[in-house]
Amino acid sequence: MPSPHLPRPEPKTPPTRPVLADDPPRFLLLEREVEIAYRPQMLAALQSKVDAFAAAARGTAPVCPQCGQPMRCPDTREVSWLARCGCLHAPVSRYRCPPCRYECRPLLDLLGVEPGRISGALARLLALLATVAPYPLAARLAWLLLGVTISPMGIWRVAQRWGEAAAHHTDALSRYHADSRSIGAPTQAAPSTVVLGVDGCSLGMQVHSKRRHRKAGETLPPLPPIEEGRFREVKTGVLLLPSERAETSPGRRSVVPRFLGTCLGDADAIFARLYAQLRELGWVGAHTMVVIVGDGAEWIWNRATMFVRRCEILDFWHALEHAWEFAQLRYGEGSAQADRWVHELAEDLRAGKVQGVIARLKRVRPKTPELRESLQALIRYYTENAGRMRYDEYLRLGYGIGSGAVESAHKQVVHARFRQAGMRWSEAGARRLLALRRLLLNDNWALLDRLRMVSLAH
Ligand SMILES: [Zn+2]
Repeated sequence: MPSPHLPRPEPKTPPTRPVLADDPPRFLLLEREVEIAYRPQMLAALQSKVDAFAAAARGTAPVCPQCGQPMRCPDTREVSWLARCGCLHAPVSRYRCPPCRYECRPLLDLLGVEPGRISGALARLLALLATVAPYPLAARLAWLLLGVTISPMGIWRVAQRWGEAAAHHTDALSRYHADSRSIGAPTQAAPSTVVLGVDGCSLGMQVHSKRRHRKAGETLPPLPPIEEGRFREVKTGVLLLPSERAETSPGRRSVVPRFLGTCLGDADAIFARLYAQLRELGWVGAHTMVVIVGDGAEWIWNRATMFVRRCEILDFWHALEHAWEFAQLRYGEGSAQADRWVHELAEDLRAGKVQGVIARLKRVRPKTPELRESLQALIRYYTENAGRMRYDEYLRLGYGIGSGAVESAHKQVVHARFRQAGMRWSEAGARRLLALRRLLLNDNWALLDRLRMVSLAH
């Protein structure tokens, strides 16, 4: 056996070690120097703004929200919090209404900061890092990008708090629009057609319902393999306008999703979410056709009935996938014959000849019980979905016939962050992070500016 260390014939000139420049580029040094020099000035400027706020707030006693009486101020304490440029502080008065026992610190509420914590603005940036990268990597990015030292656990905590705020907002919006008295955006400019695609995948969940705590020096035993039933389904839905086609990569035009929604588990929840968004966008008018593309799963069609003017489409690629299974069984895996057979069937389906295809399948005489079973399943699938397989018509109307957009959206929202090696999720953790990813991918991150970070119960 040849050894990997066997001497190989060496070239005549000796190798040269790769050269590193002695210094970083001069501009980089200048930029860093100025950043470091001005940090204290930034901090001082920010502190003086805070001081002005504190001075303005001093001496104006708030009114008790419960009894309407002016509140008393028993104490004023120095409070500090952490921002990107350093630690800030302010004298904060605590007001009290003795009869009601109601207490408040109006200056903290006004500034939106918490004693001894990271400021919301910094927490928002840290949560953004956690939205795109696993927590330990996000902590490293926090140092490289922001010059902030924070532990993965610290990153986890802010992601949970902002995620909870975002998830709470989305749920509230879904509940609001589920009520017939809610007010949606005006629908005068509603598009004639909206495509709604839904898809699902499973996520590995934590077996332990409680977090595992590591004592100093102790190593945790490896996580057990994911058992049956430890998966939860994540559903993703997209809304898009078939009239909007963009060149997503050179020579490739596809419809760009305008909105994507995700949720953990519940089929009603994903439809409620998509419906709420349609109302927020003012996209469903009296004459809007809602095109629903699905993989044939019952839960999709059951909920689709909520739209009066609708067109249900069985995703073309799922329809073919079922044919492939049968063809490979009948002609052998990877055989040219199977290939040809499916190709012909695809042509017929695309031409809208689903009844002809079913009739032809019924004339096939399977030779084995296994083959018969597979054929019956295929015939059943096409028969049940025949009304959703008028592909010629859908193509003519410009609806499209595949759920490619939802599948790629699903990969972006879920797979890219949640399905990395060894990842397990708690119910709440997944729900919160999904809420943040949704904001980011829907280009709606700025919504966090108008939400308050939620406190987590410990
Ligand atoms: Zn009171």
